[in-house]
Amino acid sequence: IEVVGAPFFNEEKDLRGIVLVFHDITDLKRVEQMRKDFVANVSHELKTPITSIKGFAETMLDDDVDQNIQTRFLKIIYNESDRLQSLIHDLLELSKLEKDELKLKFTNIKVVDLIEECIDIVSGQADKKSITITFEQNNRPQITGDEARIKQVILNLLFNAINYTGGFGIINIALQYEKQWLRVEVRDNGIGIPGEAQARIFERFYRVDKARSRNTGGTGLGLAIVKHIVEAHHGFIEVESELNKGTAFYVYLPVN
Ligand code: ADP
Repeated sequence: IEVVGAPFFNEEKDLRGIVLVFHDITDLKRVEQMRKDFVANVSHELKTPITSIKGFAETMLDDDVDQNIQTRFLKIIYNESDRLQSLIHDLLELSKLEKDELKLKFTNIKVVDLIEECIDIVSGQADKKSITITFEQNNRPQITGDEARIKQVILNLLFNAINYTGGFGIINIALQYEKQWLRVEVRDNGIGIPGEAQARIFERFYRVDKARSRNTGGTGLGLAIVKHIVEAHHGFIEVESELNKGTAFYVYLPVN
């Protein structure tokens, strides 16, 4: 708490009292701390791949490394550059969303068509793990929203469901009206998210298991981006999960 004080006097200039203003700055402090954490996190996330790229490049320059090892090192350098690229892409996305919320291009969206398109896009990746994706559709809802952004939300949830579900898993998408909302549910029977982590997964860079997320190409920014987009559409997102059983994300979007 910040306190500012000032004396006050009557007409005869006698001291009559002191005005104290108590200003609760916990919110400001929290925002400032979050900003510092964010910068520290970004620096760390950028440093790790760069350190490894530099290290492997140096070794290749210094030593008389044979062809096989050279190829192996180049592969690592390639993958780490790839990770840097995704990270920078996601960071730019996030900052764009924070600035340009009002620049969403609203049109009429045929939700079923959009979801079918998303399923097609991720199907290659799902097939590699023999994961089945099912889609329950009993009506053909339409909403207004930025189609490219809503697609990004669904793709992100689907890619996560694939990444955090073992081979032969099942992912189910379902649509349902709930009062003034259209609820899009993306459910998997994968590894699940422990209770204490569920409240934090929408934070930037929060991952339950950093190593696993990195291996699958995750930046830890996906759900932060998803939440941003959903809220820019005046909707909200919820998660339900049980460790080793699976996870369900619910996206609520307002019906016109
Ligand atoms: P990442 O790039 O790490 O996937 P996200 O922001 O998309 O970042 O997700 C944050 C974290 O939430 C992930 O690292 C993972 O631990 C957890 N997570 C997200 N989706 C799922 C899911 N479907 N099943 C289990 N864990 C998940």
